Amino acid sequence: MANTRTVTVLNGDGIGPEVMAATIRVLEALKVPLEFEYKDAGTEVVAKYGTNLPHESVEAVLRSGVALKGPTGTVVGGGLPSANVGLRKRLDLYSSLRPVKSVPNVKTRYENVDLVVVRENTESLYSGLEHIIVPGVVEALKIITEKASTRIAKFAFEYARKHGRKKVTAVHKANIMKLSDGLFLDCCRKVGREFPEIHYEEVIIDNLCMQLVKDPTRFDVMVLENLYGDIVSDLCAGLVGGLGVVPGANIGERTAVFEAVHGTAPDIAGKGIANPTALMMSAVMMLDYLDMRDEARRMENAIHKVYTEAKVRTGDLGGGATTREFTDAIIAAL
Ligand code: NAD
Repeated sequence: MANTRTVTVLNGDGIGPEVMAATIRVLEALKVPLEFEYKDAGTEVVAKYGTNLPHESVEAVLRSGVALKGPTGTVVGGGLPSANVGLRKRLDLYSSLRPVKSVPNVKTRYENVDLVVVRENTESLYSGLEHIIVPGVVEALKIITEKASTRIAKFAFEYARKHGRKKVTAVHKANIMKLSDGLFLDCCRKVGREFPEIHYEEVIIDNLCMQLVKDPTRFDVMVLENLYGDIVSDLCAGLVGGLGVVPGANIGERTAVFEAVHGTAPDIAGKGIANPTALMMSAVMMLDYLDMRDEARRMENAIHKVYTEAKVRTGDLGGGATTREFTDAIIAAL
C-alpha cells in the first residue's frame, strides 16, 4: 500500500497482549495505512533474551520511529532496570505527554476536565545519581539543565500552539530549590516569550495539587520537571476515572512510544476482561502524531459514543462486558 507507515508493536506483560490485540483490531477496522511489526519486551521475555528490552526491539523502534506499547512489569527494589526507563533512555524520549480528559458517563468528582501534563523525562532526581556518603546517609542528586528544560518548555508551548490551547502553567518549587527549579523557570519564561498568543503562568507544586483537586478546569497545559510530573500525572488521571481511561506517550526528537499509563494488572491478566480504552486512546494520539487526523477523530468519536451510550462497559467501570465485547462495540461505532 502506498505511504504505509510501519508501527512497532510491543505487547508487554500481563494484560498487555489482550489490550493490544483489541486496539489493533480497531486500527485494522479503521483501515489505516499502517503495518504492524511485533517485537518483544517485558519480564515475560527475559528467559529468552536475558533482558526485558532486547536490542532488536529497540532497533525496530529506531527504524520505524513509532511504537505502540503495552505495559511491562517491573520489580520493586532489585531485579532488572525497568524496560520503560530503558526505552526512554535509549530512544531519548525526553517528553512524557498525558492528555487528561473527562470521559462521557464515567462518573468522578469532576466534570469537563481537559488538561495536558507535559513531563520532562530525562533528568531531575530520576538521573539515578544516588550514593552512600557514610552508612546511614544517602545523597540523591537532582540534575536540572538549561538544555533539557528549554527542550521540554518548547515541547509544551509548541503542543499548546498546535492544539489550540490557551495557557501553559510551569510548575515548580523555586521558592526552596532556587537554583535548580529557578533554572527550569528561567527556561520556561524565555521560551514563553516566543509564544505571545499563549498565556504563561507559574504555580508552586504544592499549591498546584490543592488547586487541581479544587477545580481542575482552571488548568490547560502544564509543564513539569520529572518527579513533579510523575506524581501530578497520576493525580490528574484520578480526576477523570483513573489509569484505565488515560492515554500517554513518550516522545523524542525522532521517535515516539504510545502507551496506556496503567500497569500489567496481574490480578486480571488472561481473563479477557481488561479495559482496552487507555491503549485505544493512546493509539488515537499516535494517529494524530502521524497526521492521520480523520482516522484519529473517527476512532476517538467511536470510543466516546460507546461511553456516551453507556450500554457496554468493562468490569473496572462497573459493567459486565469482556474486552472482546467492548472492542466489538467500538468497531460497530466507527
Ligand atoms: P496496575 O495498573 O497494573 O493495576 C492496578 C489496578 O488497576 C489493578 O486492580 C488492576 O486490575 C487495575 N487495572 C489496571 N489496568 C486496567 C485495565 N486496563 N482494565 C481493568 N483494570 C485495570 O498497577 P500495579 O498493580 O501497581 O502494577 C502492576 C505491574 O505493572 C508492576 O510490575 C508495575 O511495575 C507495572 N507497571 C507498568 C507500567 C508501564 O509499563 N507503563 C505502568 C505502571 C505499572
